[in-house]
Amino acid sequence: MKSLHVACLFAFALLFSLPASSEETFGTCGLRSVVNASGDRLSWNQSIPIKLRIHESMPSEFISKIKSAIQTWHTAAGRTIFEFDGIENGPAIAKKDGISVIYYFTEWESAKNSEQERITIYFQDDLVVEGDIRINGKDFRFSNGTFVESDSYDFEGLITHSLGHLLGFGHSPAKDSVMHETLSPGTLRREFGDSDCVSSSL
Ligand SMILES: [Zn+2]
Repeated sequence: MKSLHVACLFAFALLFSLPASSEETFGTCGLRSVVNASGDRLSWNQSIPIKLRIHESMPSEFISKIKSAIQTWHTAAGRTIFEFDGIENGPAIAKKDGISVIYYFTEWESAKNSEQERITIYFQDDLVVEGDIRINGKDFRFSNGTFVESDSYDFEGLITHSLGHLLGFGHSPAKDSVMHETLSPGTLRREFGDSDCVSSSL
């Protein structure tokens, strides 16, 4: 079993913290895919729909935004990809436990305070078996409405982006894509770009 971290840094320029060879574009699709050391695309395959739990650390006002983000993926893919599997109680420790969870952390390593989110996927060969999303609620301010203040980041857009990484997607070169690698504060961007071709990439 191997694991891979994706940390998205939304400061001035986002750095996708993967080795360059870990992201590839297939065909003409704008969305890149995360690949293993052999160049095979990582995928959940028969594990879709992915059971996804939300940790109790998540502020309640953000839960509906997570559900909206899930719906965005379902619409783009034309099928159900995620299945909301309830609230995860207990200590907020993201680890390999066979359960895919979204956490909201109010503590974060100070040396990594430019990370807005960190996604870890666990895989065997080219099959993903688990994914965890950590949101950095310590160093960033998030907005949960339809208006994003200039000093905050749109939570729904962030979660939509994170779910893409969880699925094994990298970034899209399209600036209007929710999977684009940079997002400025005060920006609302929750949709896919025209060239993202989600349904054929899963
Ligand atoms: Zn990213």
